[in-house]
Amino acid sequence: MTGFFDTRIEYLKGVGPQKAALLNKELQIFTFGELLQHYPFRYEDRTKFYKIRELHDGLQQVQVIGTITSVQTAGEGRSKRLVAQFSDDSGSMELTWFKGIQWVAKKLIKGIPLVAFGKPQLYGRKFSMAHPELEPLTTNQQSKIYLQPVYPTTEKLRARFLDSKGISKIIALLVRESLPHVHETLPQALIQQYRLISKKEALSQIHFPKNADGLKKAIFRLKFEEFFYLQLRLLKLKLTRTEKYRGKILNQAALLTRFYKEHLPFDLTEAQKKVIKEVYADLKSGKQMNRLIQGDVGSGKTIVAFICILVAIGSGTQTCLMAPTEILATQHYEGLKEYADKMGLTSALLTGSSKKKERDAIHRALVSGELDLLIGTHALLENVVQFKHLGLAIIDEQHRFGVAQRAKLWAKNTDYYPHVLVMTATPIPRTLAMTLYGDLDISVIDELPAGRKAIQTVHRYDKDRLKVFGFLRKEILTGRQVYIVYPLIDESEKLDLKSLMDGYESICRAFPEFPISILHGNMKAADKDFEMNRFVKGETKILVATTVIEVGVNVPNATVMVIENAERFGLSQLHQLRGRVGRGAEQSYCILMTKYELSKDSRVRLETMVRTNNGFDIADVDLKLRGPGDLAGTQQSGITDLKIGDLGKDGQILTQARNAARLLLESDPHLNQPENAVVLQQINRQNKNTLNWSRIS
Ligand code: ADP
Ligand code: MG
Repeated sequence: MTGFFDTRIEYLKGVGPQKAALLNKELQIFTFGELLQHYPFRYEDRTKFYKIRELHDGLQQVQVIGTITSVQTAGEGRSKRLVAQFSDDSGSMELTWFKGIQWVAKKLIKGIPLVAFGKPQLYGRKFSMAHPELEPLTTNQQSKIYLQPVYPTTEKLRARFLDSKGISKIIALLVRESLPHVHETLPQALIQQYRLISKKEALSQIHFPKNADGLKKAIFRLKFEEFFYLQLRLLKLKLTRTEKYRGKILNQAALLTRFYKEHLPFDLTEAQKKVIKEVYADLKSGKQMNRLIQGDVGSGKTIVAFICILVAIGSGTQTCLMAPTEILATQHYEGLKEYADKMGLTSALLTGSSKKKERDAIHRALVSGELDLLIGTHALLENVVQFKHLGLAIIDEQHRFGVAQRAKLWAKNTDYYPHVLVMTATPIPRTLAMTLYGDLDISVIDELPAGRKAIQTVHRYDKDRLKVFGFLRKEILTGRQVYIVYPLIDESEKLDLKSLMDGYESICRAFPEFPISILHGNMKAADKDFEMNRFVKGETKILVATTVIEVGVNVPNATVMVIENAERFGLSQLHQLRGRVGRGAEQSYCILMTKYELSKDSRVRLETMVRTNNGFDIADVDLKLRGPGDLAGTQQSGITDLKIGDLGKDGQILTQARNAARLLLESDPHLNQPENAVVLQQINRQNKNTLNWSRIS
């Protein structure tokens, strides 16, 4: 259905080929439909006029009515400026210009009532507005109530008169011409249930709100619709998958029961038990499982994975566990092999550095079905790795793996798809998880094993280093071990490697009495293993490392995590690193070292770390600081394409929209009912648009 909204924007009055080309290039706007969805990002409140006496420092842009009483230039050279005194009956303020001084000076007229619009800032005891908009006060202005839209634009567009006002002008024309063509895109039942305004009304009010209430309703309606269709598509995908792909029924619990009776090293937490139940229900359901387990660092995901593995092996299939780094894969292997051996199961480790002979043996044992459990890195994904009957594939620390890699795991069998379990220690708010991993079911381990002491976190400046070193020495002398981590954002960054090496040397000098290990990404795998093992065994007391230790490494005797240049890490990374300690019964510490000057965001990150140990709290703050665009996985899922919804802030609307989508699909899975025809149409239209897009780019 090509129609009015597919018309290219050069055919809009006032646009033409040149401006159109610029809008294509700068804002990726090609059609009427896309321009109509170029929503304002904020509105200037022109409904209120401030008295000068009412101004305060916290205000954004405001408008003030007054008259100019005098004009002069001040300052020299680069600080030269034009200053006008501006007064009303409550006081006076200054209007200043740093550019275009001569031009502005000619236009300033004393003594007539003007409206000045800008952000007031306090200098000394007087308010000042830099480069205000200035207009004569017209008689009807004070009674005209409006919220003026502000549109995203760029420097190049501004140079072509497409600043916010220019864009507003062409959109005004477009809105007028479009309205007759706008059809409702949501079913009537939903519109009534959620008291939504019509699509027509919403599009008109979002660009040109009549009042604050109208604007609020327009925003809600458009966000609701956007989230509704996003969720509907995700849920539909999932529905199609479960209808199409049967899962192998894995329902034999004998091995698991024996493990519980004979070898389980501790009581499981209630949260662990709950998640195991959820997984077991999936495995025996006959549907293919695609489940995400979210659990904070240290919540005990590994044992949960192993118990699920026992169900799969006990039901006559093979299993694999994939980890993002060699160190982590090795550690999983060493830990789980012990259990596997006790249970009489066969296991093997496959990584990039496995020898050819070992590999060949592993490949054979997989194809013959002899091997029960394969643990490894990305090496597992290679096509040569084929199983006789893979029943369950587990991916640890999902944020390093993409959706495509998950899909590769599905192709490891010929006769059926394996069940897939993904485990992540990057907790994200549930609403966001539902969207990011919309095609996965989600389980949460929201409890740490009993008896853990909360990690104490402090922030110290570089000048306190001697004291910090004194503390480390004391801890080591009582038998504990210490991590010291340096930032290494990109392993090829020479500067970072140098700061690590310098750090290592100064630590060797400060602690000549203790054996020290070093670990970084540029080392050979064998050297890494060697150093890591020395630390795991307690032979070395301090491990100086880059973030290679971020993921999963488990040394319960290590009780102190020192993070150097902590301001350079993101929140979730800091939390991950901190999770390396606090794994034993002893009190653990995390010390965040920084320089003295810090940006505001850095301060918030550090304060958050000091305030809370809860991964979900931290994820919330992180989401607010960075927005969802930066979170792992968002790029792949196309979620950053949202036109108006904000996954970080609109959790409530998102939840409502998701529920609406779920209920709709439950009552009408294939959207056959006449009242849902509008939904089907809209989905088809969106599918078509995404197709067009992939052709263009
Ligand atoms: P993560 O969820 O970060 O992967 P791990 O699986 O590595 O956590 O578990 C962290 C530590 O807690 C391990 O030493 C593990 O043996 C231990 N652990 C796990 N579950 C329990 C439990 N229910 N009670 C006591 N200790 C546990
Ligand atoms: Mg882990």
